Amino acid sequence: MSTIELSNRQKKILQIVKTSGPITGEGIAEKLCLTRATLRPDLAILTMTGFLDARPRVGYFYTGKTSNHLLAEKLKKMQIDGFVSTPVVINENMSVYDAIVTVFSEDVGTLFVTDANTNLVGVLSRKDLLRASIGQQKLTTLPVNIIMTRMPNITMCQKDDLLIDVAKKLISSQIDAIPVVNKTASGYEVIGRFTKTNITRVLVELAEKDV
Ligand code: ADP
Repeated sequence: MSTIELSNRQKKILQIVKTSGPITGEGIAEKLCLTRATLRPDLAILTMTGFLDARPRVGYFYTGKTSNHLLAEKLKKMQIDGFVSTPVVINENMSVYDAIVTVFSEDVGTLFVTDANTNLVGVLSRKDLLRASIGQQKLTTLPVNIIMTRMPNITMCQKDDLLIDVAKKLISSQIDAIPVVNKTASGYEVIGRFTKTNITRVLVELAEKDV
């Protein structure tokens, strides 16, 4: 399947199959005054991309699928695996001051917070840190576990989740990042970070790659 631009000849073939299908390769070639061999690569592309369907001894059919349908089908099958970023994880006893330093040094917007057993216990966003900063507390002694969003209110995902489902979670929870987790006997281990930036990367890849 692909997001490629069809060539003029491919568009002509589609038009012929739309109006005269089912039609054999030979039949299409005749209408275009070309040889069957010349058309072979175009027919292969149109079949592979899902625009056309071929049945032995019957010929080519128009599937009725537009580029948009095909792109949507492809998107709906994609998993987040392959687009996941490295998580930045801090301990729940870290001070808010050090967490702010970490946001700058690691260049991330969201920190994931774990307990002594490395189980996920919280999430810290930039606004959580800003909110704490404009309060009266002393940031060097205030632990992040006082101000973080905590379990069980954390939106999580797994690496084999469908991209479209995780994207919907980002929207419905109104958040920028989701921890990618592995369920363990004692809780959830953080193995990745999936953010709105990752979605942007998917978009660019879809546009640039003919997969
Ligand atoms: P910001 O607050 O900087 O705009 P977000 O929109 O990601 O960033 O976060 C909004 C709120 O949601 C914050 O209070 C944050 O702690 C919380 N939050 C962020 N990510 C998650 C998540 N995956 N699960 C639950 N809560 C989250």
